[in-house]
Amino acid sequence: MKFHTFLIKYGEIGIKGKNRYLFEDALVRQIRRSLKEVEGSFEVYKSQARIYVDVEGDYDYDEVVGQLQKVFGIVGICPVVREKNDDFENLKKVVVDYMQETYGDKAFTFKVEARRAKKAYPKTSMEINCDLGEAILMAMPNTQVDVHKPEVKLNVEVRQDIYIYSTIIKGPGGMPVGTNGSAMLLLSGGIDSPVAGYLIAKRGVALEATYFHAPPYTSERAKKKVVDLAKIVSSYAGEIKLHVVNFTDIQLYIYDKCPHDELTIIMRRYMMKIAEHFAKENGCLGLITGESIGQVASQTMQSLAATNEVCTLPVYRPLIGFDKQEIVEISEKIETYETSIQPFEDCCTIFVAKHPVTKPRIDIIKKSEEKLSEKIDDLVKEAIESAEIIRVN
Ligand code: ATP
Ligand code: MG
Repeated sequence: MKFHTFLIKYGEIGIKGKNRYLFEDALVRQIRRSLKEVEGSFEVYKSQARIYVDVEGDYDYDEVVGQLQKVFGIVGICPVVREKNDDFENLKKVVVDYMQETYGDKAFTFKVEARRAKKAYPKTSMEINCDLGEAILMAMPNTQVDVHKPEVKLNVEVRQDIYIYSTIIKGPGGMPVGTNGSAMLLLSGGIDSPVAGYLIAKRGVALEATYFHAPPYTSERAKKKVVDLAKIVSSYAGEIKLHVVNFTDIQLYIYDKCPHDELTIIMRRYMMKIAEHFAKENGCLGLITGESIGQVASQTMQSLAATNEVCTLPVYRPLIGFDKQEIVEISEKIETYETSIQPFEDCCTIFVAKHPVTKPRIDIIKKSEEKLSEKIDDLVKEAIESAEIIRVN
């Protein structure tokens, strides 16, 4: 069947009172962005508290639906048959064809729900409901009308054209990106951080990202993997400005000066500081990590407290209470998993101690960091100034 329009249903954003139009406009922008790369001609517009995507000419249905399913803020996508000829006998035929093609000879209960935006139409909504219902019953003997709890609700909207639809494809929910400021994601090549970025973006937050690598200990391929992950996340979140920081000298210096069981914690504290620098420079309102309580030594409650202590911006950890398997399931769903499990080294794992502290004390960590006082400020400055910026979309 050929669908000419998609009616976009949105939930939460419908209840934002006076700011509602801001959310709707953001959603329209995000829908346009998502369809930019898709072959076909699309017109996205608001009309009477609804959003529509009209399609002209040929297009790939699965591709369009797939793209729309990545736009946060969309709760449902209704593929619509749009009929230009508003003669009622013709409409009956089109509606019956629609029902037969969509449901075959299945047995189900239904109800017709007509709405007239064009008040000049010669039939009332009630008459349209009855007459179309009757036509369907005659053509599809396995069906029954149930006006209270129908299995299928057939919507017929008489506007300039007539819109016919009955199916709702689930959207991702959430809020349109750009309606809730921006935040800086610490993005590694692992499974967790892309999922963390996805979940925060789902609430309308635009993303920037920082990746720390340690050439030559980490390879170009490891970096490419992170860019690839950013690309997948950006298919939901929109453009991501990725800061790639060369962390080698800082890591070597920490390795040289500090107790090895504290390496990871101290390193992570510097990562947070540098990421926060870029966050503030770019107006981000928080940091995001993929940490989850107890997952590894650097994510015990004590370690998280020690890492957190260097930050002044809020740190959002959307996975904090998730088990690994739950995180894996989301990463599979959002299609970052296959990329995340590619076996490339991460800078965290290269200088890792055999027995890292699991209950670091902040006073002791700070004491160890004093041993870095000679050069660390210069090294941090150098790392910030030499960072490479990649715009991923
Ligand atoms: P992930 O699967 O996301 O790599 P992880 O379980 O391996 O997480 P850690 O290596 O302890 O956990 O890292 C915890 C968090 O710190 C990551 O989720 C990420 O937000 C951040 N992080 C770790 N390594 C890097 C890196 N090289 N660059 C940027 N951020 C990093
Ligand atoms: Mg990691």
